[in-house]
Parts: sequence; structure tokens; C-alpha cells
Amino acid sequence: MAVPTFVDRVTLHVAGGDGGHGCASIHREKFKPLGGPDGGNGGRGGNVVLQVDPGVTTLVDYYHAPHRRGGNGKRGQGNNKSGAEGPDVILRVPDGTVVKSINGEVLVDLIGSGTSYVIASGGHGGLGNAALASKKRRAPGFALLGEPGERRTVVLELKLVADIGLVGFPSAGKSSLIAAVSRARPKIADYPFTTLVPNLGVVTAGDTSFTVADVPGLIEGASEGRGLGHAFLRHIERCSALCHVIDCATIESGRDPLTDLEVIEAELRAHGGLDDRPRLVALNKVDVPEGRELAEMVRPELESRGYAVYDVSAATREGMTELTYAMARLVQGRRAAMPQAEPTRIVLRPKAVDDSEFTVVREGEIWRVTGSRPERWVRQTDFANDEAVGYLADRLNRLGVEDRLRQLGAVPGDAVAVGSDENAVIFDFDPSVESGAELLRGPRGSDPRLEGR
Ligand code: GDP
Ligand code: MG
Repeated sequence: MAVPTFVDRVTLHVAGGDGGHGCASIHREKFKPLGGPDGGNGGRGGNVVLQVDPGVTTLVDYYHAPHRRGGNGKRGQGNNKSGAEGPDVILRVPDGTVVKSINGEVLVDLIGSGTSYVIASGGHGGLGNAALASKKRRAPGFALLGEPGERRTVVLELKLVADIGLVGFPSAGKSSLIAAVSRARPKIADYPFTTLVPNLGVVTAGDTSFTVADVPGLIEGASEGRGLGHAFLRHIERCSALCHVIDCATIESGRDPLTDLEVIEAELRAHGGLDDRPRLVALNKVDVPEGRELAEMVRPELESRGYAVYDVSAATREGMTELTYAMARLVQGRRAAMPQAEPTRIVLRPKAVDDSEFTVVREGEIWRVTGSRPERWVRQTDFANDEAVGYLADRLNRLGVEDRLRQLGAVPGDAVAVGSDENAVIFDFDPSVESGAELLRGPRGSDPRLEGR
């Protein structure tokens, strides 16, 4: 089997589909020339959705194709036909994918099969003229534009979610053991550690596939943050079981298999949260004669403490089948006991500001109006259509934008920008004392109601 490329961090550019435009149409029937407005609404744009699929183990697909877009909504049509919604795009990601903003802020932590998250919403469809009709505007000659889909750039990071964590002293043979049992050796890139790199292996025993990770550098003091192993322990917090890898061949004063195991257990206790996980003990390096002797000596004591003990050699692969099948049983047991999907993690997105609010500030020569509704209304406006521009003016006026501008000292002819970026639309402030309906004039075309004066 080919070794898959393992990618644990990618930058992803996503965009929801654009909403379809609303339709402006007047109902026509033979011998009934003057029907009502019957333009349908545009369809909503498709969302881009991240969804956990346990079958996916790497982010490599998004590394190769980092731009993803939801489908566009279709235009509305005459005869009150709504446009079709744009299809959602589902991006499958591995269990344990963390979604961050480009600034490193965590947006969501995706855990559990099927957990999903809308990463970019599709734009609303525009209302057709049938929906815009009112007592005042019985037959609107315009419709609203569909809104563009949300655009975002996010970073996806894969947390190491290992089924089995290998713990042990340096040089006990953890890395060698992973190499001996795994069919794939994904590389862990971008680790915030310079000297130590955890190893992750994918193991298959019978029908069960699982991941094994080693926890390098777990020695005394690690749980108090002195060693590096503590940081690695976080990555095995979700594991099904821990496997002690114990060096039986290296003779060093003050060290023997039982003490080694106790030191490591003390570290795990100090870290916390792993007490309930079953333990396996791999007595390693039994290919060395002294190693085998020592293993035989300590086995009864370990078994009397309740450990399942395996004599192994990462060098000759002796005992590997028994060990990996024992691991597989523990993984299966935990997978069966765990509910399939844990609840979706907290989403730390900035709370949407009150929808009714808007702000007006003076910026040099121009007045800038910002707020989700005014900005949305501008996006929905077809500026080539004078009636649509008049409708926008009415909406802004009803919201109180004209009054606020006047209170702040705006005078006719001042430039008013709606929106916060370069895409802001600039108008001339042109308040109408009579109707209040002609606050703004579109930059393109002109409003006949104003020219008449
Ligand atoms: P780690 O620090 O726990 O990851 O240990 P390594 O896997 O890097 O192994 C440390 C040393 O022990 C290396 O020189 C390995 O070749 C050696 N080693 C590991 N497993 C065995 C084994 O089963 N038998 C023998 N003879 N040597 C081993
Ligand atoms: Mg190692």
C-alpha cells in the first residue's frame, strides 16, 4: 500500500454561492393585458459545510485544492416561479479538525462522526417584484438582487487523535515500535517543538484500523511543564488506551522496568484525565538475551498489578501480532462504548450586532454609514433601475439614516458612503423635505422624480 501524504494544516479559501436575483415581471394572459406583478424570488446560494468523516485522515485534498465554493442560486422567474437554491458543498474532514481564523482564533473544533459546521453561508436570494408589491407600490418595476455568498479564509488544523498512545522513557523503542507495526507513517508537520517530533502510525489488525502515536520526552518533570512530553500528552487525551513501552535491554543504574513504569505513571497522574484508560505493557527488546531474562523476571509482578503484558521486539517484530490485536480489542471496545458523535464544540464567533443598528461617522469629506441592514440593502439594489434606487432610499429613510445625517449636520450635496470597504457605494445627500422618499440618488442613471423639480 502506498504511503499516503499526511497534511495537518492547510489554508482554505471558501465562498458561499451567490443568491439568485429576484425577477421583475407582470402577469400576462390572453385578453387580460394588465395582471399583477408575478416575478419570483431568487434562490439562496449554497453553503460550504465542513463535516467530520472518520474515513478521512488527512487534509491533503484541501492542500491540493484550497478554493471551494457553494453553488449559485438561480434567478426567479415570471409566473411566481422561485429560482432553485444553489447546492451546498460538503467538505469532508478528519475527526479532530480545528478550524481557525487567519489570525489564529479558534472558530470551531470538529469532533465526532457527522459533526458539521457551515464555514461560508450562501447569499440570500433577491425578492421578486411580486414579493415587493405593497399598497404604495402595486406593481414594482424592479426586483432585489441576490446577495453574494460569504467569503472567508480559514486555517484547518488536524489534532493528533490517536487511538493508542505509546508512553515510555527516551530510547525505550517507541518510535521503532510504531515503525514495526504500522503500514503508514504519516509525517507530522509544523509541530511547535523543535527537537521532538511525535510519530503517528496507522495500524491494521484484523478488521480494525487504528492510529498509534508516541509521546516523546515524557520524563520526570514533564507534567509540571518542564519537559516537552506534557504538550504531547494533550494529543493523546482522546485515546482508547495507553501502552507502556519498557526497555528491558538497557542496563542503567537506578532504572529497571518497574521503576520506569512507576515514573511514567506518576507523570500521567500529574497530567490527569487519563486514569480511566486501560493500559498495556510492552516489554521491549527481548531479542537481546538479557532483555528476555529481565522481561521474564518482571512479568509476574506486572501481571499481579493487573497489567496485560506482552514480550516484544521492535527489532525482530517478535510479539507484534499479539500486541496489535490486543490494541485493536481495546480500540473496538472504546469505539463501541462511545456515542458516535460528541456534541459540536463551542463556536467562538463574534456575536452579530443588533440588526436594527447602524452608525454614521464623518470621515474627512464623506459621511460613512455602516450597519448590516443598510449594507445588505445596498447589495440588493440594482442601481441601473431608478425605481429600485428609490426603494432603497425609502428603506434607508425608514431606518432613520436621513434623520441621523441631518442631526449630525450633513447638508445637501455631501457625499454619503454606505458600507465599510472599497465596495461602499457613494451617494449625494439629497434629502427630500416633502416625501422623505428621495434621500439618495444613485451614482448611475438618475431619478426622474428629482429631475422634474
Ligand atoms: P524511543 O526514544 O522510545 O522512540 O526509542 P527508539 O525507537 O528511537 O529506539 C531507541 C534505540 O533502541 C534505537 O537505537 C533502536 O534501534 C533501539 N531499539 C528499539 N527497539 C529495539 C528492539 O526491540 N531491540 C533492540 N535490540 N533494539 C531496539
Ligand atoms: Mg522516538
